Amino acid sequence: MTEARDIYLRWLQDAHAMEEHALTMLKGQARRLENYPALQARIQQHITKTKGQAEVLEKILARNAGDASGLKDVLGSMAGAGQTLGGMGMSDEPVKTAVMSYAFEHMEIATYEVLICTAEMLGDLEAAEALTDSLEQEEDMADWLEDHLSEIVEIFLGRSEQGREAAS
Ligand code: MG
Ligand code: FE
Repeated sequence: MTEARDIYLRWLQDAHAMEEHALTMLKGQARRLENYPALQARIQQHITKTKGQAEVLEKILARNAGDASGLKDVLGSMAGAGQTLGGMGMSDEPVKTAVMSYAFEHMEIATYEVLICTAEMLGDLEAAEALTDSLEQEEDMADWLEDHLSEIVEIFLGRSEQGREAAS
């Protein structure tokens, strides 16, 4: 079971890097969406959720890493992952932001589903429960985006009539 536990730890680390990336991306998006107050507010709300999700993963990692040297490696590589992903940019266009976010949330959903069944198989039921909360937050965000895509397109097209600058 040692190999499976190592894989579990690695996947938890990957999920943490994903959330760090999400945080960078969401913060950048929130700054650019002043003409889309509903989307902006929802992204702000998801920033808070995302911070909580990263903390959940840190706690699970800390609990599972066991020996101190292992934990140091884990935390070190998490910091590195945050740095590389921080440089990735996004399109300014709000509709593309919504599309990208919708895709990203589904990657997060699949990631949490994988982590939850792994945690269950390894008997880490406490983690499975906490990760299920994170999964539900991602599903809520994906649902919200799906429900609001047409509204975002409508605002975008309406503002486009006033010129390219007004729409972004
Ligand atoms: Mg997330
Ligand atoms: Fe998310």
